Amino acid sequence: MSHQSTAVPPLIITEDNRFWFAAAEQGWLAIQRCTRCHTLRHPPAPCCARCQSFEWDTIESSRRANLCSYTVIHHPRDTAFDYPLVVGLVDLPEGIRLVADIVGIEPDELVAGMELDVTFAEHAHGAVLPRLTRPEVWR
Ligand SMILES: [Zn+2]
Repeated sequence: MSHQSTAVPPLIITEDNRFWFAAAEQGWLAIQRCTRCHTLRHPPAPCCARCQSFEWDTIESSRRANLCSYTVIHHPRDTAFDYPLVVGLVDLPEGIRLVADIVGIEPDELVAGMELDVTFAEHAHGAVLPRLTRPEVWR
């Protein structure tokens, strides 16, 4: 029996966010939208913070992200992750923010305001989740 850390945080999937993980599994980034006032929200929530409606649908994000901030996680290390483990906070053009791993870009290359793409890959949990990568084409 190994004594290495197994601290991979579990995904907490509920009836309120199941649609979002299902969309990610299919390779698209869902954004929840209130069908009464059309306010977008993320992370998923059962109720609109603006008008308190429980009615909602989803739109698909363009997945063109703009880096707002990031952090490099050094400790604690877990064998489930690759290091340096870089996590970014990005603005999406739809007007919401997303937190995801940044993959394939060295931390010293990162600059607030740079453009990143949201792509999908299998994560440490075995689930498919969004991640932030260098844009495939210059824009
Ligand atoms: Zn609303």
